[in-house]
Amino acid sequence: MDLSTPLTYLPGVGPKRAEMLEKELRLRTFGDLLYYFPYKHIDRTRLFYIHELTADMPFVQVKGEILSFEEEGVGRKRHLTAHFTDGRHVMDLVWFQAAAIKWARQQYHLGTEYIVFGRPTVFNGRINIAHPDIDPAESLSLSSMGLQPYYHTTEKMKKSGLDSRSIERLTKTLMDKLTVHSTFEDQDYTTVAVNETLPQWLITRHSLMPLGQSLRAMHYPLSADELRRATYRQKFEELFFIQLNIVRYTRERQAQSRGHLFRIVGDYFNTFYKDYLPFQLTGAQKRVIREIRADTGSGKQMNRLLQGDVGSGKTLVALMTMLIALDNGYQACLMAPTEILAEQHAATFREFLKDMPVRVELLTGAVTGKKRRDPILEGVADGSVQILIGTHALIEDSVVFRNLGLAVIDEQHRFGVAQRGKLWKKNTLPPHVLVMTATPIPRTLAMTLYGDLDVSVIDELPPGRKPIETLHFWEERSESLYRGIRQQVSLGRQVYVVYPLIKESEKIDLQNLEEGYALLCNTFPDLKISKVHGQMKPADKDAEMERFASGETQILVATTVIEVGVNVPNASVMIIQNAERFGLAQLHQLRGRVGRGAEQSYCILVTKYKLSKETKSRIQIMCETNDGFEIAEADLRQRGPGDLEGTQQSGIAFDLHVANLARDGQLVQLARDTANYVLDNDPSQSLPGNAPMWRRLYELTKNEMDWSNIS
Ligand code: ADP
Ligand code: MG
Repeated sequence: MDLSTPLTYLPGVGPKRAEMLEKELRLRTFGDLLYYFPYKHIDRTRLFYIHELTADMPFVQVKGEILSFEEEGVGRKRHLTAHFTDGRHVMDLVWFQAAAIKWARQQYHLGTEYIVFGRPTVFNGRINIAHPDIDPAESLSLSSMGLQPYYHTTEKMKKSGLDSRSIERLTKTLMDKLTVHSTFEDQDYTTVAVNETLPQWLITRHSLMPLGQSLRAMHYPLSADELRRATYRQKFEELFFIQLNIVRYTRERQAQSRGHLFRIVGDYFNTFYKDYLPFQLTGAQKRVIREIRADTGSGKQMNRLLQGDVGSGKTLVALMTMLIALDNGYQACLMAPTEILAEQHAATFREFLKDMPVRVELLTGAVTGKKRRDPILEGVADGSVQILIGTHALIEDSVVFRNLGLAVIDEQHRFGVAQRGKLWKKNTLPPHVLVMTATPIPRTLAMTLYGDLDVSVIDELPPGRKPIETLHFWEERSESLYRGIRQQVSLGRQVYVVYPLIKESEKIDLQNLEEGYALLCNTFPDLKISKVHGQMKPADKDAEMERFASGETQILVATTVIEVGVNVPNASVMIIQNAERFGLAQLHQLRGRVGRGAEQSYCILVTKYKLSKETKSRIQIMCETNDGFEIAEADLRQRGPGDLEGTQQSGIAFDLHVANLARDGQLVQLARDTANYVLDNDPSQSLPGNAPMWRRLYELTKNEMDWSNIS
């Protein structure tokens, strides 16, 4: 049977239904429907007696017949009751709404044996099931009913009578067409007649269920255990092909890639390390520098993601990596997402390198005018500018490096690293690329989204940092908040007050900020307060930021523009207004603005009183932990990986149907290990036993599902 057969060839699917299935669920072929797995199963192997039923049971089924019908009430209260008996006791089946009442009347008759299925409640002391599922008893046999599949359908489909039960009928018909009986170890199995996609050695090695059996069991399992094993097989398969593609691609890229060779660690690095570095590197920083050193000394191009919480010392690692580039006669650049950040980086670098003969220049959109720009560009072209720091201005055509060996990108978790490297490709070899991000990505996700990259992690903060204390306040209780602000300011500290800003509600958001600002001015007439938001001219914004950074103002009221990387070590309090409107990753980023000095810092999450369950748990996580990775994991669990960008990186435009990156971390690891094992043993993809697997992989990477290979 060919899985690419259109569904119109399936009994029960006319042109109208076919159109609906394609439009609503994108199901077009037998194969599509076969892989449209139920979202849950309900055990229908057991019949209950009425006297056993209680109101706290989930779903039950009872065999019996209808004694009589009774219609009561008028208007909205109108309902139909059927008195139903199992031969000993009586319960009520109830329908509301005219259409349902009419339908039930036509459909069900007295004196016929039915199996009734639904969720029992108690009403007026009697067991009652509203809108039950009813089947003639003769058409159902318990032994074949087993676990009943439930399928998602859309509102539109339900309106035209295409509900879970209808899909169930279709998959049943499909199974009749596709399955064959086979015997294995004295057991009878019904399996879908498809070719296996995984090699036999792999199936044996991981005790996987064969594909055909799992496809049947995903819909019609014989037991909960069979369903569990079928699900495992399907999850593994999904994750495995993604990882196989990543590993294959990565190995190919590594085999081909050539990069600048940093042969030595020389005077720039060593002098800085010995004479000018004002503190000890943390163990994590040392390890990461070694990892980078190995990459850049290998002759291949480095594509590395450097993760670490805000303040963990990534920038310093970047600086020292740049010095290695300089030692080998190369230039280096650093690209930051905003001008403020670029300026801050430039200032930091110049300060660190002030006693060394290194030329550091800054190039941003704000650096205009021939007089200022031309000398910089000339220096970049002739190589006398050794380190260039800037914004996106760095990738303009007018910027031509003499020999760029290393590009560092700050806070750009939104872009694929490999793509970034190409920005500087031009004619020669691409530079090594190091991307720094303070948004930790959970391992399983990194392995999938950025699977073709190397990842370094700084998981250790420099010594002496006090963990930030995070507290939750309700907005009604502002006096104690003001007291806290007053106290911190009197200790000489500075305070951020942040308001959310969303495009759709920008007006209201800005109004909130203005009101908050006015209120603070009123409450603290003796303090100086800055105000920054996205509607201001960049120059004004920078000036206000500068006033705060220099300590001239004590409080900074701002929208989320400050989210990215400003460094004001004297600021010890971060107050986040309407914290319920921020996601976990954003809250964590904002919190990272404080806690940069040696003093105890605070993050205050201010919310309204009424909060959804999810929001409460977000706030709770923030109050409990400062660990970016823990927060990232929680974020992944809450939001799912769906809205994370960069999913194209794996090469397979994958929608995970069965597996879940947050929950199935161990399977992701197993899939990755297995993929590596496969490529270690079959690097030329030529072992005969593996042929169907490779065919399947190329199938999947083609995006358009073509079923001809596995049918
Ligand atoms: P990140 O870029 O990860 O946010 P930075 O490199 O900006 O972190 O470091 C934050 C602060 O900590 C800076 O002031 C930096 O000079 C300092 N710092 C970095 N590494 C160390 C270290 N090993 N010991 C002490 N202070 C450090
Ligand atoms: Mg930083």
